[in-house]
Amino acid sequence: MLSAKMEGGEKFIRFSILGSDTTKTLWNMQVRLISVTSPLIEVENQLLSPEGLIAYCARVSSPHQESPDYKKLLAYCIRHKHWSVFEMVDMTVEIVTSRAISPQILRHKSFQFQEFSQRYAKAQEIERYMPRRQDSKNRQNSLNDLDNETKEWFDEAQERIARLTLEEYNKALERGIAKECARVLLPMGTQTKLYMKGSVRSWIHYLEVRTDKSTQQEHQEIALEIKKIFMAQFPVTASALAWS
Ligand SMILES: Cc1cc2nc3c(=O)[nH]c(=O)nc-3n(C[C@H](O)[C@H](O)[C@H](O)COP(=O)(O)OP(=O)(O)OC[C@H]3O[C@@H](n4cnc5c(N)ncnc54)[C@H](O)[C@@H]3O)c2cc1C
Repeated sequence: MLSAKMEGGEKFIRFSILGSDTTKTLWNMQVRLISVTSPLIEVENQLLSPEGLIAYCARVSSPHQESPDYKKLLAYCIRHKHWSVFEMVDMTVEIVTSRAISPQILRHKSFQFQEFSQRYAKAQEIERYMPRRQDSKNRQNSLNDLDNETKEWFDEAQERIARLTLEEYNKALERGIAKECARVLLPMGTQTKLYMKGSVRSWIHYLEVRTDKSTQQEHQEIALEIKKIFMAQFPVTASALAWS
């Protein structure tokens, strides 16, 4: 049976590997701000903000390096693709997602990552996705118009696979098989956690690409959450980019 909770607009459902059963629990993608570069220099007796530091570094050759007004400067740098100034400040976020999505995230080579290791720790959860229909005209797109019977079939298929996977994975560990070997039994829906650190420059381009509708919906939702964090941390840059 398709879970009533899934019909309530939730995107994911998870199975717990820790328990012996496969009781469904709701899961939403999780994103959390971990850190932003914290400048240590003061201008007019005030510590610079992260964006103030970008402007301060951009004005390295200017006699007005300490000017507190940098709205126009950051907009100018964006307009003229003077991207290196945006490499002066970093942001790190924590992302909880599935192994179906994390390889897409890891492709963004200008970032630095730490990801949960299935070699050293037991996998915790298997996510279940609400299915969408393949768009026959655009292979990068999927449509939210599947009939209930197909959704139920897919939900049950995920449940069967998760149950089988958990049983065999747990048995493998009980037999003393190394986690790095046992993990080949796990599906792509297995949950993972990553720390993703990058410069403001990298985040700008990541967010432009991954909030676009050509990106898989589950990844788009992660990027949209990170975009909210970015906009709160870098309001002048976000405004110069006309982000809303
Ligand atoms: C819709 C979609 C489909 C994809 N399909 C495939 C596929 O089929 N197979 C596959 O192997 N890969 C695929 N990819 C992955 C893609 O090719 C890239 O590897 C991935 O998006 C990482 O981007 P990147 O290399 O620019 O890395 P990033 O780390 O995001 O960027 C690298 C550097 O380039 C800079 N940069 C990026 N964009 C700009 C810009 N516009 N202006 C100035 N600087 C910029 C960044 O700031 C950074 O410094 C797909 C990606 C998307 C979004």
